[in-house]
Amino acid sequence: MSLENWQKEDRQYIAGTYNRFPVVLVGGEGATLYGEDGKKYVDFGSGIAVNVFGVNDAAWKEAVTAQLGCIQHASNLYYTAPQIGLAKLLCGRTGADKVFFSNSGAEANECAIKAARKYSFDKYGGGRFRIVTLQNSFHGRTMATLSATGQDAMHRYFMPFLEGFDYAAPTYEGVRAKCGGQTCAVMLELVQGEGGVRALDKDDVKKIAAFCREHDILLVVDEVQTGNGRTGTLYAYEQYGIEPDIVTTAKGLGGGLPLGATMLFGRCGSVFSAGDHGSTFGGNPVACAGAVSILSRITKELLLEVQGKSAYLRTHLGRIRGVNEVSGLGLMIGLTVEKDARAVAEACLARGLLVLTAKSKVRLLPPLTIRKDEMDLGLNILNEVLAQ
Ligand SMILES: *Cc1c(COP(=O)(O)O)cnc(C)c1O
Repeated sequence: MSLENWQKEDRQYIAGTYNRFPVVLVGGEGATLYGEDGKKYVDFGSGIAVNVFGVNDAAWKEAVTAQLGCIQHASNLYYTAPQIGLAKLLCGRTGADKVFFSNSGAEANECAIKAARKYSFDKYGGGRFRIVTLQNSFHGRTMATLSATGQDAMHRYFMPFLEGFDYAAPTYEGVRAKCGGQTCAVMLELVQGEGGVRALDKDDVKKIAAFCREHDILLVVDEVQTGNGRTGTLYAYEQYGIEPDIVTTAKGLGGGLPLGATMLFGRCGSVFSAGDHGSTFGGNPVACAGAVSILSRITKELLLEVQGKSAYLRTHLGRIRGVNEVSGLGLMIGLTVEKDARAVAEACLARGLLVLTAKSKVRLLPPLTIRKDEMDLGLNILNEVLAQ
């Protein structure tokens, strides 16, 4: 079928919520994808930070198919080994006390919001339910996470939104000014992804963490995009020298299958009891078996490689004419460009490179295992498109 026909059927049968790029992806190997048109594409997007080991990853496929041969779903009324194994791995690598599993980033954040409110309710009674989030943040598309998202453009049509969110400027002073007697949590992305690949200042974040501790306000770090090796450490908070109370993640965790995790630390480790929260598919054994394979291969050695690739890409991107600024952390890279970011992404696609955008920036999230020749191909295409 031709691209035009796929586009026609997509328009006819699928709700028009996505502004798709004109390519039908059918396969690939690592960071190189194949289109139905027979063309090859270097992947600087990883399906939005999902395919950390690229596509067609043998070890992940083996873990997933082995579990498929056992039991594909059990419901959370029963125990399954992959879910327990993954929770143990996550707690061991982060110091978290407990994990709640869901199916997406939005759900991981929903759980964090519920956990923060419950923690405060248990300790202080009702009324202390407000959550401070940051201007320009992105926390998901459900009603609660959309309410938590600090972008006016997202707060249209779907009124009324959930009550109790205050949007602060992304600094210590900004957050402090929005915290009050009713505040139970501060929730933030350490590198704002959708908001434009902006890393928060480390000093500000440390001060926010200390302020939160002092006032028994929980610090929730949304690592849906920054997590799972993306920024050069397993989770980005490690680089900020802070100890969050709740860390959420999803995207890369499942290696391509839907999986979200809400990690509960220390004082809110035991916030949930039976019946407080739940999910039919959350912690699905196939998704968890895949995630165990992913997480156990995000080793120190791999993280060092990520840091090296980040430095390599940043150096070369900084030299491209038409790139005014390179932002972000690790392999989460934002480019401030002179041209329109969407037009740049389309021009890259036409030349065989997949890139993303975030607000007015070009956003790069290549697989952590991308090879040097693939990086160089991508850099050459970006150079052609941007410097032209
Ligand atoms: C993608 C993203 C989400 C939402 O994740 P979904 O899996 O799409 O629900 C939430 N927070 C951040 C920081 C994200 O990047």
